[in-house]
Amino acid sequence: MGLAQFRHWVFDMDGTLTVAVHDFAAIRRELAIPPEDDILHHLAALPAEEARAKHAWLLEHERELAVNARPAAGAVELVRELHARGVRLGILTRNARELALLTLQAIGVEDCFAPADILGRDEAPPKPHPGGLQHLAARWRVAASEMVMVGDYRFDLDCGRAAGTATVLVNLPENPWPELTDWYAEDCAQLLLLAR
Ligand SMILES: [Mg+2]
Repeated sequence: MGLAQFRHWVFDMDGTLTVAVHDFAAIRRELAIPPEDDILHHLAALPAEEARAKHAWLLEHERELAVNARPAAGAVELVRELHARGVRLGILTRNARELALLTLQAIGVEDCFAPADILGRDEAPPKPHPGGLQHLAARWRVAASEMVMVGDYRFDLDCGRAAGTATVLVNLPENPWPELTDWYAEDCAQLLLLAR
């Protein structure tokens, strides 16, 4: 199946539809999270009070990033064209859902996504867990094999593989994970050409 035939697309948000601005090293320093730890997993394992305080800091920090988000090259054109074709679009992000909504507004594509098709870290288990994609497959009543997962990181590809969707890697100068990738594009402008 060519990319143009897919009618159900799910996007990672940060670094995929937007220019990556998260300074994860700084976040880890601020929250005293060891460099080798996964941020969300680390917070989940803390005592409730400490976890709450650190989640609150993270949300504030990320809100600032969300309102200042800038679109990745070709991302707005890609989303708009898919939406105009009647393609169903979802977001699966490790960010918070309310910040995903703010971010999509900031880059001007929020009208292309049904609100219930935007899954954040409280609506779905964090990628690479396939739960978010499985949830959208059930909502959309399609097989995972009829869906595309687009992202800029290995978690996005692992998540797609685990759920059984097609996988697309964007926004890296080369593909470090060819075994996990069905399509690779340097950016969303090139991806749009592959999807035509
Ligand atoms: Mg990303």
